[in-house]
Amino acid sequence: MRIEAIPAFEDNYIWAIRGMGPIGRVAVVDPGEAAPVERFLARTQDQLVAILVTHRHADHTGGIAELVARHPVPVYGPALEAADVVTHPLRDGERVTLAALGLDFEVLHLPGHTLGHIAYYRPGMLFCGDVLFGAGCGRVFEGTLEEMHASLARIAALPRDTKLYCAHEYTQSCLRFAQQVEPCNALIAARSEQVSRLRAAGLPSVPSTLAEELDTNPFLRWQAPAVIEAATAWLGHAPASDAETFAAIRRWRDSL
Ligand code: ZN
Ligand code: FE
Repeated sequence: MRIEAIPAFEDNYIWAIRGMGPIGRVAVVDPGEAAPVERFLARTQDQLVAILVTHRHADHTGGIAELVARHPVPVYGPALEAADVVTHPLRDGERVTLAALGLDFEVLHLPGHTLGHIAYYRPGMLFCGDVLFGAGCGRVFEGTLEEMHASLARIAALPRDTKLYCAHEYTQSCLRFAQQVEPCNALIAARSEQVSRLRAAGLPSVPSTLAEELDTNPFLRWQAPAVIEAATAWLGHAPASDAETFAAIRRWRDSL
């Protein structure tokens, strides 16, 4: 199985999943625009067999109508939103079987960025849309900070070697904030340098591993003493729970 990033817009990634079944078949995740996917298909000569959607935002769904008009494929997505484009609605705990690729995924419902947001998991990888970014997390547009914390806690509980395929190239700016939260975290500084090198070479900074995120992502580090200390300073009192620590860090980021 090979996974490739198809860049779209300014900083989106549409993930192309090329399966273990017959060669030349591909599924794409969150095609916000059709043209880059069409160029990818023309270059690889792959056949599009499925579209996976994490949430309803236009930068994740905007290309679907045009793609399915040319490639009549199933569109898997959240049961709670994007009903205009989704043909196969999915709920938490359900499985998606992409027979043409010889792959299946488990669906995780991870509300917070949007109420219906889902992610696709199989051992070794998570396609997490806008829930988690490299060293960051999605804005909480819908739902509560508590719900977002619970969603991120589910990701944090996955195996540490899980690769996280998020939908945006935001890692550099997220790391600048991470350094504000934890100026003394050497792993954040090291990741910053590594990501700068990758970006200077025109390469994606993602996927990362959950292990890297647990070390450097302030939105997963609600138990780190330095993060609790920073949240305490920002709030003016000690947070009473992991969720309150997370909420303080998210609101701090939103205030900048
Ligand atoms: Zn979004
Ligand atoms: Fe997005």
